[in-house]
Amino acid sequence: MKIKDMFEQKKTVISLEIFPPKIGAPVETIYKTLDDLSDLKPDFISVTYGAGGKAKDRTVEIASKIKHKYGIESLAHLTCISATKEEIKKNLDEIRSQGIENILAMRGDIPEDPDFDFPNPLQYEHAVDLIGEVKEEGCFSIGAACYPEGHVDCECKIQDIKYLKEKVDKGADFLITQLFFDNELFYRFMEQIDLAGIDVPVSAGIIPVLNKNQILRITKLAGCAIPPKFQRILDRYENNPAALKEAGEAYAIEQIIDLMAWGVRGVHLYTMNKPETARRIIGNIENIRSLQG
Ligand code: FAD
Repeated sequence: MKIKDMFEQKKTVISLEIFPPKIGAPVETIYKTLDDLSDLKPDFISVTYGAGGKAKDRTVEIASKIKHKYGIESLAHLTCISATKEEIKKNLDEIRSQGIENILAMRGDIPEDPDFDFPNPLQYEHAVDLIGEVKEEGCFSIGAACYPEGHVDCECKIQDIKYLKEKVDKGADFLITQLFFDNELFYRFMEQIDLAGIDVPVSAGIIPVLNKNQILRITKLAGCAIPPKFQRILDRYENNPAALKEAGEAYAIEQIIDLMAWGVRGVHLYTMNKPETARRIIGNIENIRSLQG
């Protein structure tokens, strides 16, 4: 099923994100995770695409298993910054031949390695270039990434939203946000994109914070704000991993309940491949979700 149609049918689309095992690690480890995630009955599961194109083969392989073995709709992430036109064509052919109907089309982070072997000249500069090509294929529902607090590379938030509008005009039919901890910033972003004429459904990306290193990594990469009530949790429990995990999960649950009360179209849970955490969070919102119809 195409994800754009799901948004037509459901009040809140609930999705989970997983990442493939590292190169060299057995791919089977992810199937153990999926065994545990599948009975949570998410509307779809997305599979990330390694930075710089690493582990790309596994993305399609895993997305195909999600759809055909577990009977859950899948969303294959795809990035273009380090790819050639030929590689993207090959990738799209493979995704289509596996019966995968949904692609999250992105630029990708620019690899930090100064010796990284980019195509010369670059064949894709921005996600919008990839979105146009995926759209031409005619058979995919296309998602794009968006950033409630602005993308880290973009100095002007208004300009960032203008580029987002270009992605939608080119063919993105739903959006998934970067993770955030302050719902008020998300609500403000939704008003801004509405004013910019962006009317496709937006899924809110939520991450349960499970340990101190994770939060340091996230804030460095995503540059997202930490509201005072979340900062208090971090300060109080940073050296108490068990309490931090409990409080991190509870904070994510509270965020999602608030988003659902606001009327969010979708919640995308970054699972970090931790089924027990996803289970606790989904279990806590499931009743509200079924009661709201
Ligand atoms: P773009 O939309 O191209 O934007 C990148 C920057 O360029 C922004 O600053 C934007 O303002 C600017 N820009 C956009 N269009 C133009 C234009 N036409 N002219 C000039 N400037 C422009 N990364 C991975 O490697 N693998 C993944 O699986 C992955 N999954 C993700 C899932 C989600 C939900 C999100 C939110 C991000 C994910 N990322 C992933 C990270 C993403 O690849 C990075 O944030 C990347 O730096 C930007 O990708 P993008 O598609 O948003 O790029």
